Amino acid sequence: MHEITAIRYGSVSSTKSDLFLRYGTYREPDAPQEMSFYFYVLRRDGEVTLIDTGFLPSDAPPRGRECLIAPDAALAALRIEPDAVARVIVTHCHWDHIGNLDLFGRAEIHVPQRELDFWFSPVAHNPQFWSHTEAHAIGQLEAARAEGRVTATGADEEVAPGVRVITVGGHSPGQQIVIVDDRVILASDAVHLYEELELERPFAVISDLGEMIEAYALIKELGTAPGAVVVPGHDPLVAERFPREDFAVRIA
Ligand SMILES: [Zn+2]
Repeated sequence: MHEITAIRYGSVSSTKSDLFLRYGTYREPDAPQEMSFYFYVLRRDGEVTLIDTGFLPSDAPPRGRECLIAPDAALAALRIEPDAVARVIVTHCHWDHIGNLDLFGRAEIHVPQRELDFWFSPVAHNPQFWSHTEAHAIGQLEAARAEGRVTATGADEEVAPGVRVITVGGHSPGQQIVIVDDRVILASDAVHLYEELELERPFAVISDLGEMIEAYALIKELGTAPGAVVVPGHDPLVAERFPREDFAVRIA
């Protein structure tokens, strides 16, 4: 069994009308909505796997996001050396998930095939997509790929014992979720907020609406298994519902 720690390293104050797709659909008053930024550390038998790598702190202010702790500083506080990270599982290639990739020069980087196909295609450069990533981060992914350290992940596969990834699409063309030890469903941005899943209200940043809604159904079904836990990718409530020490939230 893995020890799973969510690192809460950033936050932003927003509104429901900004975050949910066509919020007017629901004919409800607007309301504030906080978002937290997480990445995850899996540890088992001394082996470290990261799920995403957070954003580069200097990318946060222009986007109005607050960096609560630099991802590299958070790892240092947990006594994790970047070179000791065996693998990085990239859930999708948005700026807040693939910043800092260059820190992990020894890691095997697992990226959904559909994300690789998309982000290295011309259409990704349309601002509707490109504004959600950073050229330097995509460049670092490209460099890792040239070094032979990038492995494409398929529709549904086990990338390491007890670590299963499923590509669901929707939010980003190749968005994937990660299921750890058949029990903990790290939804990443397939589900940003608990409310998004409970009410099946699509998020505003979207690549395929039908796939996003299908992903909700899949994640809900996975969540009904005995002992299953669904962890949304950006909900501040994650840091309240699980035991927390400062920035480190103990998921399992
Ligand atoms: Zn995203």
